[in-house]
Amino acid sequence: MKVKGKRTYPLERTVLVSTPWSLFSRPSIQLGTLKAYLDMQFPDLKVEAHHFYLKVAETIGYRLYQVISERTWLAETVYAALLFPERLEYIEKVFCREASGNPLVRNTGLETLAFQVKKVSDTFINSTDWGAFGLAGFSICLCQLTSSLYFIRRIKQRFPDLTIVIGGSMFAGESTRNLFQVFPEVDFVVNGEGELPLSRLVRHLRDSQSHEEIPPIPGIVSQKAANNKISVSFNQMEDLSNLPSPDYDDYFDLLKTFSPEKAFFPTLSAEISRGCWWRCPQGAAKYPGCAFCNLNLQWDGYRSKSPLQVISEIDNLTTKYKTLSAAFMDNLLPIKESEDIFAGLGKLGKDFRLFAEIRATTPRHILEAMQVAGVHEVQIGIEALSTRLLKKLNKGTTAIQNLEIMKHCEELDIVNVSNLILHFPGSDLADVEETLRNLEFALPFRPLRFVHFWLGLGSPVWQDPHAFGIKAVFNHPNYAAIFPPHVFNSMRFMIQAYRGDLGLQRKIWQPVKKKVRAWKKGYAELNRGPSHTPILSFRDGRDFLIIRQKRIGSGPSTHRLVGTSRAIYLFCQRHRSLKRVLAHFPGIAEDRIVPFLRMMVDKKLMFEENGRYLSLAIPVRPASISGFSFKDRADT
Ligand code: SF4
Repeated sequence: MKVKGKRTYPLERTVLVSTPWSLFSRPSIQLGTLKAYLDMQFPDLKVEAHHFYLKVAETIGYRLYQVISERTWLAETVYAALLFPERLEYIEKVFCREASGNPLVRNTGLETLAFQVKKVSDTFINSTDWGAFGLAGFSICLCQLTSSLYFIRRIKQRFPDLTIVIGGSMFAGESTRNLFQVFPEVDFVVNGEGELPLSRLVRHLRDSQSHEEIPPIPGIVSQKAANNKISVSFNQMEDLSNLPSPDYDDYFDLLKTFSPEKAFFPTLSAEISRGCWWRCPQGAAKYPGCAFCNLNLQWDGYRSKSPLQVISEIDNLTTKYKTLSAAFMDNLLPIKESEDIFAGLGKLGKDFRLFAEIRATTPRHILEAMQVAGVHEVQIGIEALSTRLLKKLNKGTTAIQNLEIMKHCEELDIVNVSNLILHFPGSDLADVEETLRNLEFALPFRPLRFVHFWLGLGSPVWQDPHAFGIKAVFNHPNYAAIFPPHVFNSMRFMIQAYRGDLGLQRKIWQPVKKKVRAWKKGYAELNRGPSHTPILSFRDGRDFLIIRQKRIGSGPSTHRLVGTSRAIYLFCQRHRSLKRVLAHFPGIAEDRIVPFLRMMVDKKLMFEENGRYLSLAIPVRPASISGFSFKDRADT
């Protein structure tokens, strides 16, 4: 009789796999960091990392791959059609709906796509000697669920005794419940970050004959633990100083096998920190982080690397792989260390092209250091232009702060690719009206993208739905189309749906959508032409300044501010309270300052919120050259 979980493969080699639809232009940070860590812990263990999604991108074409990888449901349908061919009719409906706006995907069609990915995937599966590995680990993040399950199922059919471990953001907390019943091919799930749990598992697998002998490991969920309802725990690095640099050799080795016309310069995935430090001040809200966010499911607390560690890592990785682009995968950067990190990167003398996600409260001096270091693009946690709504989102920011950082990015030429969340449950007409009003002041800056709220498993909204007017939460119905009923009914998926005020939300946010589309069009039109000057800018004449406002369909309008008016406008280059303005200009009476500020707001040259004022025009010369200092920033 065969012993369940009996391992017959030696643990001298292990394999880590990342399947489609990860972004093809970046090596998987999960695979890179795990491989480097396991190599360090077990010098005699051979770790192979297969960034297999890159092979699929090369096969079907980068453009088509990219479109699919940017749309979760589109991505999940392709391998779903291979996993559950009997459900093709339902899966195709989801595919057609999601592909309707994209001619490239629509014209390719699900059948052709599924055929292409099956061919390349099966070739990889059949040509790999999985029997040589004692463990196969799959990193499963958004867009990788069905593709990973397809690989696992096919591999396990041929190698039933191979130990399969999964981890990644698609499986955390609640979502691991019942997993082993519906996907018995999976032996272990890593909850949260993988370095410590996976290395302990490897150690135990090397010493034991069967899975039954393996004791409970913090951070690992096994079938036995799930049956015994043992609660899911984290097991994460206390600090990140012991993490080696990620190892991306396998990704670059694969890229080298492509023909010259398929070659490109990848963006290196890098990390400064793990987790999220944003916590609403005690008592201000029932939950600590942003109401819509479930990223905290994956971590317990925030940790960041030292500036020296980050600087040498980026220096070494870019030297080793001969590419200058890097994307920081952090949820958000550490405030304290950021200035030193970017100042250090700036001193390396390399022309980096960097990306990072930041909070709207990131101070101007850090943005300046980022720009000098080569940060070309940022995603800011803007989410809304209504302070009322930002409060419901528990963002801890205000509309004036959002406008201020959008303005700084415009001035520093840092591309701001941030979102405006529409349809947030519980948002109302007053939120919409405030958004519409404030949008008028955002028009000189790079437009935001509107995104529809989606309900994440484990997010504060999901945990406390009634507080947001939600009557019921359940798995997103697209999973019901993709998966057979027994899977859909047993699993808690990461993307949830709800019954609440969605009809109302769709209706009230229509004018905002229209306005954002017009903003995008207007911004492109006003920035067309050979000379790129900002839409709203000023030139300083030392005791006067001239503001220039570009307009659609007519020439620019200009405004001249002289003497104290100029000084007040410059003083409000970052937002200032009226009290602070009055204190700064003690010789000028309030009844002269207030009408001036009001006039500037009426002309949309300044923004006002709750007695705080922000000048919107940006200098045609960088602030450091024109003599205005943002170091003067103690306006709390
Ligand atoms: S959205 Fe960003 S800042 Fe907010 S809780 Fe999530 S990770 Fe933290």
